[in-house]
Amino acid sequence: MEKLVITCAITGSQTTRKDTPYLPITPKEIADSAIGAYRAGASIAHIHVRGDDGVPVQEVQRFQEVAERIRAETDMIVEVSTGGHHSMPAEERICSVDIEPPPEMASFNAGSMNFGSGIFINSPEALTLFARRMHEKGVKPEFECFDCGMIENVLRLIDQGTFTPPYHFSFVLGVSGGIGASPKNLLHMVESIRPGDTWSVVGIGRHQLPLVTMAMVMEGHVRVGLEDNVFLSKGTLAKSNAELVEKVVRLANELGRPVATAREARQMLGLPGLG
Ligand code: ZN
Repeated sequence: MEKLVITCAITGSQTTRKDTPYLPITPKEIADSAIGAYRAGASIAHIHVRGDDGVPVQEVQRFQEVAERIRAETDMIVEVSTGGHHSMPAEERICSVDIEPPPEMASFNAGSMNFGSGIFINSPEALTLFARRMHEKGVKPEFECFDCGMIENVLRLIDQGTFTPPYHFSFVLGVSGGIGASPKNLLHMVESIRPGDTWSVVGIGRHQLPLVTMAMVMEGHVRVGLEDNVFLSKGTLAKSNAELVEKVVRLANELGRPVATAREARQMLGLPGLG
């Protein structure tokens, strides 16, 4: 079977220290946690940053520090978030692509939705802005689709020539306000993209492990990490991102999916590398 690309979503913007005391917050903590995840088998670090008080921020300097620390120790692919926080304007959210050298990947949130108790606004205008800024910087978008209509948004932009192939999708299931986490929904999402596109699954909370397992069997790729789920098993907090990665590596071994190195992941995703 095809090698498995594991993304680790290190800290996100929603998880708090009340949810888990093991959440990394400072740039050094985030980078160290990503490096631990890399050593466990993750090839992509999905990065958000926080202020020292734990509140999500979009600050280029903080993204820069995290990326430099990760790149000093590993050849991990750095994928920055452009999600930021719901209240931030699009211009502020896209600043994470301004690190130097640019990130190899960035999240591209493919539409608007209710998100928990808030509204996550990604207007057509914002999508155009994100696409343009990523293109200018040579950043590969990770198309985060929280519902089926968002896949259509991306396919429409692809048909308009907005993006450069190959295309990589992340199907996010289980967010309150987005598509539910069921095998039927995942299958429909996978069947909505085109031959040659790659995809990864993001399962929220207790849905993480079942969806990861489905994706492995369906020859997709997976994301784990404290952004999406803080539990290693029912009632037991994961003490690190590495622990969550170790668990999916064990599962991958059982299911016959060899785990891709960062170099192999670059080949599979069509990333040129940092040179
Ligand atoms: Zn994220």
